[in-house]
Amino acid sequence: MTKKFPCTKCGACCSSIEGIGFLELYNQNGVCVNLVEGECSIYTDRPLLCRIDETYEAVFSVYMSKEEFYTLNAKACNELQERLGIDERYRVFI
Ligand code: SF4
Repeated sequence: MTKKFPCTKCGACCSSIEGIGFLELYNQNGVCVNLVEGECSIYTDRPLLCRIDETYEAVFSVYMSKEEFYTLNAKACNELQERLGIDERYRVFI
């Protein structure tokens, strides 16, 4: 298993933040205002929730293995991508 979550930078999560309380500050019609030309403009300072590996260590490591966490995240990424019609080359595989 990879040491870091293999995010493909599809931008699907950044385009689906409606209703996520912690990110409401950045919400503009469901899209994060920091998503600029397909890239996060505050990447090094992005919230914890946007940092999959750090979120695992800070919150989920007591509940599940990293592999389980990655698998759940990849499933969510791929479902979101399909819902948004994002090209298959961005699918996440663990
Ligand atoms: S939806 Fe998944 S693969 Fe796409 S940018 Fe977000 S974390 Fe990365």
